[in-house]
Amino acid sequence: MAGGLAKALPRAVAVGADVLQIFVANPRGWAPPAADPAGDATFAATCHLPVFVHAPYLLNFGSPSAETLARSTEALRFSLQRGAAIGALGVVMHAGSSVLGNRRDDAIAQVREHVLPVLDAVPDGPRLLVEPTAGGGGALASDAASLGAYLDALGRDQRIGVCLDTCHMHAAGHDLSTPKSFRAALRAYARAAGPGGIGLIHVNDSRDPAGSKRDRHEAIGHGTIGADAFSALFTTPVTRRVPMVVETSDTQHAADIATLTALRTAALL
Ligand SMILES: [Zn+2]
Repeated sequence: MAGGLAKALPRAVAVGADVLQIFVANPRGWAPPAADPAGDATFAATCHLPVFVHAPYLLNFGSPSAETLARSTEALRFSLQRGAAIGALGVVMHAGSSVLGNRRDDAIAQVREHVLPVLDAVPDGPRLLVEPTAGGGGALASDAASLGAYLDALGRDQRIGVCLDTCHMHAAGHDLSTPKSFRAALRAYARAAGPGGIGLIHVNDSRDPAGSKRDRHEAIGHGTIGADAFSALFTTPVTRRVPMVVETSDTQHAADIATLTALRTAALL
């Protein structure tokens, strides 16, 4: 989003992307940007690629802080409303964490209590995609088992889907470093997400080994997952037609997209 929404599409096209994920507010802050309905409408009318919005990182509906809850509610509402205005297919939000002093069950109940009314308030908003995190620090959903329990607690609401992140899956304890183990992990998460549950995949290599609980993305093929293993994304029925985006460093996007496109082409041969 650097330089404004109008620059996002040409930048995506320049690196060979066929799907786009953007922030519509400062990813590391709470304050929403100034409204720009005309710019949003222009973007919606001209963007020919599928678009997803990533909500700010600070959102945490598992937090015991009333202030964080109120700000998370406002920020999610904003992301859904602006997502609708720009024609986004989904809004990604991290599953959250319980933080010290809050029980996991209570924290998940709190997610349900506060997130569902926001979805009610923005009925024509994009689908909410919950992203399991790398684990540790009271994570509410990280590995496949915890994701299933989280979605159960949210009542399997059809307005809520899942955004997987391969770095997070690996860090959460599903070793993705071979095509076979990668496919098995995708199947486990797909079972947890339910039919049609996976709406998007963040494709990132990991700087740290499986089970590290650390969330440090690496360029595709330069981390502990390795390029070959990513072929699993294109040889598993559960990821068929699921859009994928890379969240590696900007300078790596073109190379990462080329690597993934080559793996996809090889899988189709
Ligand atoms: Zn991610």
